[in-house]
Amino acid sequence: MDKKSLSLYIHIPFCKKKCKYCDFLSFGGCSIVEQREYIDALCKEIGAYSLISDEYEVVTIFFGGGTPSYVPAEYIGKVIDKVRETFTLSENAEITIEGNPDSLTSDKLKAYRSYGINRLSIGLQSTNNEMLNILGRVHNYDQFVAAYSRAREVGFSNINIDIMSGLPSESMESYVKTLGRVVEMQPEHISAYSLIVEDGTPLAEDEELLSKLPTDEIDRRQYSRTKLLLGQAEYERYEISNYAKTGYECRHNLRYWTGGEYLGVGLGASSYMKLDGGLEMKPSVYDEYNVGEDEYNIGEMTDNDAVYVRFKGVDNIDEYIGRFSKYGSGWTDVSSVKELIGNCYTEIQVLKDKDRMEEFMFLGLRCIKGVSISTFEERFGKSIHDVYGKVIEKYSELGYLGVDGDNIYLSDKGIDVSNTIMAEFLL
Ligand code: SF4
Repeated sequence: MDKKSLSLYIHIPFCKKKCKYCDFLSFGGCSIVEQREYIDALCKEIGAYSLISDEYEVVTIFFGGGTPSYVPAEYIGKVIDKVRETFTLSENAEITIEGNPDSLTSDKLKAYRSYGINRLSIGLQSTNNEMLNILGRVHNYDQFVAAYSRAREVGFSNINIDIMSGLPSESMESYVKTLGRVVEMQPEHISAYSLIVEDGTPLAEDEELLSKLPTDEIDRRQYSRTKLLLGQAEYERYEISNYAKTGYECRHNLRYWTGGEYLGVGLGASSYMKLDGGLEMKPSVYDEYNVGEDEYNIGEMTDNDAVYVRFKGVDNIDEYIGRFSKYGSGWTDVSSVKELIGNCYTEIQVLKDKDRMEEFMFLGLRCIKGVSISTFEERFGKSIHDVYGKVIEKYSELGYLGVDGDNIYLSDKGIDVSNTIMAEFLL
């Protein structure tokens, strides 16, 4: 039997300290004991997938967070060992770890290489120390330069650097300096996102900083400058906010954007899987944790038909550890993956064709080459024009969408208003 490809996202929710703008599921300053308990539970969760692991070949792994480089390297090694023990890992799998400059020591970097990690993603955000301070980052620019050169020394030949535009009170000159310094270092990949003010973060409460945020117009100018300067330095923009040297596009993220199956393990991690045997819920579990059945949005249940399911790990760390540390020795024993998912996860949603078509469009349109007309037809048995003809026609005439052979893509003008256009693909 041909194995299906699977991408694995592994969430490590620990950081040295929370950044001011961060609403990711992560905690600052957790003890080593808490970290170890979490890693043990995580390994149990991965092991639970031996129920279906022979159907899959893992083609990408992404350690995200949080700050995966904050935890002891051997914890990461333990998790990778568990993945190898449970799944077949493709020989040329892309294995990425995210890290912050202050915690990427030589020893850790060497250990990562010995575990087979072949891609490093460093959270820099800005080369301007004043900006790093405003954001509440725990590192400075010099620490980044040192960490980057250590990573090269130990043999990392595929490095991403994260940078951020739209920072409070940052001049264009300062932003361009960040771009220039990053390009000088010649990483293989650059992610350039705009700062988003998320509710509930310290930044969202800081009136003074909020008053210094750039206008949309300046934000757009920073975006164009990013595109221009990175383009001149031969980075190809292959997704709205992601740039790569030829052949170094992030394979893991491309699978998200093109509708590949992925399994997210760890606290609050999301998954998207095709289950050949449907889903099955065990009501006793609701009682155990006092959650009502209606908290689970199961949509239309099928017994044996293949279903596309989206589901999420619980986001309370004590509950997560309690749930999976007992796996294999108590109430969580299950005999099939449909029970495992039905029992141990939250926000379970069975996707209908309509949901999958919408996602195909708005995730695919994030990619600069756009969505494939023939893939849409193969996947859904319908012509893209029968489903979205009117929207495609309207925005093509206005110059927001372009068609190139088999592909429909957002034009530069379309990217500027991408949220509005993507919303039109909701059915
Ligand atoms: S390092 Fe990343 S995950 Fe951790 S607090 Fe900062 S932005 Fe959030």
